[in-house]
Amino acid sequence: MENKFILVINCGSSSIKFSLIAPHNGQEPLSGIAQNLLTEQANITFKLNGEKIKQDLPSPFVHHTALSHIVHFLQQNKFSDQVVAVGHRVVHGGERYSEPTLINDDVMATLEQLSHLAPLHNPANITGITAAQQAFSALPQVAVFDTAFHQTMPAMAYLYALPYELYQKHGIRRYGFHGTSHYYVSRQATRLLNLPESTGSFISAHLGNGASICAIENGKSVDTSMGLTPLSGVVMGTRSGDVDPGIIFHLINSLGYSHQQVNDLLNKDSGLLGLSKLSNDCRAIEEAILNDNNQQAKLALDIFCYRIAKQIAAYTASLTSLDGIIFTGGIGENSDYVRQQVVSFLSVLNLVIDNTLNIQTRFGKAGNIATADSRPVLVIPTNEELVIAQQTAEVTQTL
Ligand code: AMP
Repeated sequence: MENKFILVINCGSSSIKFSLIAPHNGQEPLSGIAQNLLTEQANITFKLNGEKIKQDLPSPFVHHTALSHIVHFLQQNKFSDQVVAVGHRVVHGGERYSEPTLINDDVMATLEQLSHLAPLHNPANITGITAAQQAFSALPQVAVFDTAFHQTMPAMAYLYALPYELYQKHGIRRYGFHGTSHYYVSRQATRLLNLPESTGSFISAHLGNGASICAIENGKSVDTSMGLTPLSGVVMGTRSGDVDPGIIFHLINSLGYSHQQVNDLLNKDSGLLGLSKLSNDCRAIEEAILNDNNQQAKLALDIFCYRIAKQIAAYTASLTSLDGIIFTGGIGENSDYVRQQVVSFLSVLNLVIDNTLNIQTRFGKAGNIATADSRPVLVIPTNEELVIAQQTAEVTQTL
């Protein structure tokens, strides 16, 4: 059992996040990120036993270069023999994948086919897998899908009210994302409340730069706010979340926007950034409210919190019981301001926050921040990498 690690890789279009994790106890001796790939500023930062080491990457700054660097670093630090498998975060598994999957040629071909559903994400994931296959040719590789946890949603939840052929012929439906996070925090919540395994029913709010809400009944996802793409649902850092689709035609037909401009507007210029005219970063917005009484920032955060509360309330229709609500993600784990605001809209559901516990439960702490007679309000730091490591170990039976 000892000293066997899974290398977890999360490959984006211009970055690779990686960590070496012991799946049985979560020990993480090495982690890091290669950033600005494909640019002159490409660099890689290793965090080895808590110490940060930053290196520039040599030209041509591609994903393969970064992976070679990681292999070299593992060798230098005598980890190579202890890595037994590689686990990849893959954004979109479509309807094909509801479980973590050992990667082979067929799986790679299917991932290519699914790329049209996630053109911004899956191609980068495929690049990462290909580079890792070359770098770690002797090791089994596993894909863990962001969409997989939501494959238990009923048709009532995942179908859009569009012509049914669009679903049948083109797979247009709600898939949902952040599945690994919602899965992890709902399992942790079940333990925290001492409920029997696989019985907990929760509404979990993953609030980070991307944000989604998930209704979980007896440990299974039954509805979630992101859709065919991660653009829908609640307000996010730079994404709009749900808007009237008629706005898109108004922008194009009446205001002269191009398709690309609308895409950029909804994905990059909206959300907290667009509303606050200040930042997509929740911390900066809170500081502007608290230090400068910035009313535009307050409006942005009011809308952010109200929309989350509305989505949580809507998901009471998806559940037959509710053991509690869960906050996670960078904002959910750390912002007592946002948690307080969101829960203030939900007193009808018997949800009331204890102010002292709310302020105390931040920066990696987990706990119930509700008052004694309220339904539980749980803060649970997410750990998607640990889930990927554990599922990779399980699929490959390497530990
Ligand atoms: P994530 O995408 O999960 O890494 O979350 C990023 C978001 O978490 C950003 O909007 C940060 O501003 C926010 N965040 C991190 N720490 C804090 C904090 N102490 N207070 C408020 N927001 C925070």
